[in-house]
Amino acid sequence: MVQDSRPYAKIPLKMPTKHIDTVLQHAGTAPYNPETGTAPVPLPPMRASTVRFENLAALEKAQRSKAAGGRATTYGRMGMDTHAALEQVFAQLEGGTHAYLAPSGLSAMTMVMLALCSAGDHALISDCVYGPMRELDDAVLKRMNINVTYFAAGEDLDALVQPNTKLLYVESPGSLLFEMLDMGAMAAFAQRRGLVLATDNTWGSGYIYRPLTLGAQVSIIAGTKYVGGHSDLMLGAVVTNDEKIAKQLNRTQYAMGYSISADDAWLALRGVRTMPIRMAQHARHALEVCAFFKGRPETVRLFHPALPEDPGHALWQRDCTGSNGMLSVELRLSPAAARVFVDALELFGIGFSWGGYESLVQLVSPKDLSHHRYWGEGQNALVRLHIGLESPQDIIADLTQALEQAAAVPG
Ligand SMILES: *Cc1c(COP(=O)(O)O)cnc(C)c1O
Repeated sequence: MVQDSRPYAKIPLKMPTKHIDTVLQHAGTAPYNPETGTAPVPLPPMRASTVRFENLAALEKAQRSKAAGGRATTYGRMGMDTHAALEQVFAQLEGGTHAYLAPSGLSAMTMVMLALCSAGDHALISDCVYGPMRELDDAVLKRMNINVTYFAAGEDLDALVQPNTKLLYVESPGSLLFEMLDMGAMAAFAQRRGLVLATDNTWGSGYIYRPLTLGAQVSIIAGTKYVGGHSDLMLGAVVTNDEKIAKQLNRTQYAMGYSISADDAWLALRGVRTMPIRMAQHARHALEVCAFFKGRPETVRLFHPALPEDPGHALWQRDCTGSNGMLSVELRLSPAAARVFVDALELFGIGFSWGGYESLVQLVSPKDLSHHRYWGEGQNALVRLHIGLESPQDIIADLTQALEQAAAVPG
């Protein structure tokens, strides 16, 4: 592995630890000033477009390292030490060896597609994938003659492989219905057929689910969600443990000009330190809300893999170390009543994102659901909730009053 020439990329921990909670508190802290023996706790956001070299020998050393696939900065686009520290955090989270930053989760997805697929290639993609992948497919991949087949969990993948298939791209659990895929089985299949297995791991964010340790070679995190944790930044990361794939990602990231602000890297480093407590609290609150919905006559079905009755529960128990604040609920409400329910919520913002401290609601459109075979023939309203860090009693009181308003809708 080629060394990163940015000095703060090394997590300054002399004591080895297997515990990610410890790593997250010590990664990217600033080193001591050799003269004064002092240091701030956090590494400052190192903003720079231009990198200065002490002499030509230093410049040439950096260029040689870069040419050999190393992470030497010669210009600001790749970022300096704040970026390097964050790359290390993502690598540690996922148990990977290399991490590459992107300006959003979606651009991390485009980096993977463009690094791993060439014109004439074919990719198999799970039908529960993050929705805008289909936009990327329609707007860009088709023009590049990269073709895609969407498959449902449990489908016979051998029948879908073509001679030019290169990539198996999945998301587990899916971020609308939270269906768990069998990552180990996918990895075994990909290995047998000579495919790269890449997965969107925004749900797990490397904290409660680590697909690289289950056989995937590439894991993508939208840092916009639980890593940032405060609904105030856009960020993506691609992590791998494969040297050949790392080289492809490294070149593509640089060639495509994916660049993120040092301030955003800093915000992500700041956010990720509290991910252990935030994630656990979101998960607890979501389970309380599930228990509330179970007692409501409007509830048809809950989608949350930490629930024993969820069809993905056994896989979740086997592969995950926790859950988070995401759940969906199918409600026996007319379309008009479902709109009243969503509009009546006071603590829940209506919005597409999740992973911040606050509660969010999305009324999932039938069109978005139509791509997901896991949804089946469901005719009712589907509401996706991100359960925030508000008091669960207040969240449940809010849901109760909104359901009562929905019940008053005629018909
Ligand atoms: C939000 C999200 C993305 C995209 O991240 P952005 O930073 O919003 O571009 C990708 N995958 C999943 C599962 C997401 O929830």
